[in-house]
Amino acid sequence: DHSGVSFLGMGNADADYSSRPSSARIYDALLGGSHNFSADREAAKRLLAMLPAAGEMARANRAFLHRAVQFMLDAGVRQFLDIGSGIPTVGNVHEIAQSRVPDARVVYVDIDPVAVAHAGEILRDNRHATAVQADMRFPEAILGHPGVRRLLDPDRPIGLLLVAMLHFVPDDDAYPAVERLVASLPPGSYVAISHGVSETAADAATDGVADLYRRTDVSTATGRSRAQIMRFFGDAVLEPPGLVWVHEWPSGGDGAPGDMAVVAGVARKP
Ligand code: SAM
Repeated sequence: DHSGVSFLGMGNADADYSSRPSSARIYDALLGGSHNFSADREAAKRLLAMLPAAGEMARANRAFLHRAVQFMLDAGVRQFLDIGSGIPTVGNVHEIAQSRVPDARVVYVDIDPVAVAHAGEILRDNRHATAVQADMRFPEAILGHPGVRRLLDPDRPIGLLLVAMLHFVPDDDAYPAVERLVASLPPGSYVAISHGVSETAADAATDGVADLYRRTDVSTATGRSRAQIMRFFGDAVLEPPGLVWVHEWPSGGDGAPGDMAVVAGVARKP
């Protein structure tokens, strides 16, 4: 039941989504949010048993998202495409961006119907932001979506955010989809990526974590190596300090992972 068609809203495979945990709602539970069901909280509990730093990682990741958006705003970016945006929580991209630039444009994209419905409610009176339900494995559906076309000017720099989401997408889908998305961006655009990395103490938990996520709406949860993560940036040029532990961007650090199993970087398209 993982065909893209059902996720685009044309099938009914997800009708019973409250009994099956979703990656969006597990993450919301880790962050202490309230838009999750008991199945999600159970899964979050099991995840924490295997990966005690999961909550800390989620918070550090959220803080990275915040800094990456500020960085892009400083660089003059006024429109954002946030794919795998998750359930709205404190410090959403439109809040960060529109507090500095009231007419900054933000399009949220997520596969999870609960995430998109909740974002839609929050954005009801916001003319410059919208939420779209789509699967990133089908980038044409995202790029051609009326909400995207209405809000994002393809001739001006765009901040593409793929934050803590690509590890839920298998290689055969993820690489071509990201390549297509990055190719669509005009020069001067930025790409922010954070990603689970498989080089740390978290490796011990890898099988259990993958098994847990196989029972959710995503078919995989795989850390990648730094080299594999770097490939996603394509021809975009990484800003200093490069691809680093998520809590060390952009200040850099001692390179010790601590309990982190997530790396992050921001690149600029020449
Ligand atoms: N980007 C947010 C952040 O970093 O705070 C949320 C990250 S959350 C861990 C991952 C999100 O990716 C979930 O909301 C999940 O529904 C979404 N997701 C997973 N696979 C997806 C896909 N193929 N297309 C779109 N969204 C996807």
